[in-house]
Amino acid sequence: MTPSKLGFGFMRLPTLENGSIDIEQVKKMTDIFIASGMNYFDTAFVYDDGDSERAIKEALVDRYPRDRFLLATKLCAWEQAPDEESAKQQFFTSLKRTGAGYFDYYLLHAIQVDNYHKYDEYGIWDFVKEQKEKGLIRHWGFSFHASHKLLEELLTKHPDAEFVQLQLNYADWENPAVEARECYETARKHNKPIIVMEPVKGGTLVKLPPKPQEIIRKASEKASNASWAIRFCASLEGVMTVLSGMSDISQMEDNLSYMRDFVPLNEDEKETIRKMQEALKEIPSIPCTACRYCVAGCPKHIAIPDIFEAMNMHMEWNNDELAAELYEEALENGGKASDCIKCRHCERACPQQIKITRLLEESAGLFESGYTG
Ligand code: SF4
Ligand code: SF4
Repeated sequence: MTPSKLGFGFMRLPTLENGSIDIEQVKKMTDIFIASGMNYFDTAFVYDDGDSERAIKEALVDRYPRDRFLLATKLCAWEQAPDEESAKQQFFTSLKRTGAGYFDYYLLHAIQVDNYHKYDEYGIWDFVKEQKEKGLIRHWGFSFHASHKLLEELLTKHPDAEFVQLQLNYADWENPAVEARECYETARKHNKPIIVMEPVKGGTLVKLPPKPQEIIRKASEKASNASWAIRFCASLEGVMTVLSGMSDISQMEDNLSYMRDFVPLNEDEKETIRKMQEALKEIPSIPCTACRYCVAGCPKHIAIPDIFEAMNMHMEWNNDELAAELYEEALENGGKASDCIKCRHCERACPQQIKITRLLEESAGLFESGYTG
């Protein structure tokens, strides 16, 4: 079965008021997705402490024949894996949680400069190949958040990796902290099919600042902001699937409206994207994708991405009233920016290499000095 061009990422699922996954809505979304001819579903051992994989079972695996969908999940050797045994056990736990019998795509999760040695140390590269030989994995690869130089090194060392998952979006195409273009070109050089994650930059490209917004409104009255971001990635040669972490039915319907019968960007649309890239470069912002990898290990339980959302509201949008509100909300479940003890656990976990401690100091300076917007 060929993977659909749009993949359903089970990372930002809709939730109920009590914070648990709204499984009934997820079932409806799954039905709409499959009825639209799509088939690719993506989860991970660590998403929602396993609830994402459980939701896959309930919404998908238990309700559809196994040959109607393709399922991807991931093993994270650096999170919830203090040793080799617990890292490898993630694979068997994922099989049990999802009830899928086998995985169509299996990934070494979120490889970056501070953790890739764990995958070597625990022998995970060989482990996934053994599972493939046993028929429990159809294709294996890795998701990646580091420089193109490290990607080059890994693809040279592991030429049998069957695909790579990269964070690509038009705003980070030339961003030196992400190296989207260079990573894309490296994967292409090695002839690897590419799965795109974070095409909408964690939702950032849905809420554009005024100037880029004006550029795309002029180009099209109808097309949604997300459509530009997702179609940009899907139009790149060699891209197998673009993952979208759809959080409700309306987002799914929007995504499907242009991905069901996908048409690549034409030359005029590519020019619009180039203009937006230029406009975005002029606006300073924190490149946080809200992946929340930094939050789990913070001894002060600081809601780092929520604080950065408030900072970006201030920096990108100049909406200081909303920025102050967002900061207050960020404190509801965690510590203040000034509680940071600079242990830097978060910085080691951050795929975007954000200087979190320095930015928290700036956030504290802004929001904790009587600032009300
Ligand atoms: S450096 Fe600060 S924000 Fe980061 S994990 Fe440590 S206490 Fe938390
Ligand atoms: S600061 Fe980094 S690790 Fe934390 S949510 Fe943002 S991008 Fe993810």
